Amino acid sequence: MADTNGLITAITQLADQPRTAPGPRCTVGSILGRLDVETVAKIRTVLDDLGVSSTQIADALTGNGHPVQAAAVARHRRRGGTNGCRCPR
Ligand SMILES: [Zn+2]
Repeated sequence: MADTNGLITAITQLADQPRTAPGPRCTVGSILGRLDVETVAKIRTVLDDLGVSSTQIADALTGNGHPVQAAAVARHRRRGGTNGCRCPR
């Protein structure tokens, strides 16, 4: 029988360590949190418009001083879903 004491100790430490906020911080969510209400409303409109690609939105934000990747925009568009970010719907 293998000695699992070391493993048990290591796993116990993982279970006991303090939790940080669940999931990665959403880049789009934090950008929206820095902008004024009017701008946020416009961005939300294009986020909900499937005719506008995540790449186009990411390029527009990045080009105006808010660097974000298209994948983060796509994840924010799926917010609330199992493969989306944790921003409120
Ligand atoms: Zn988000």
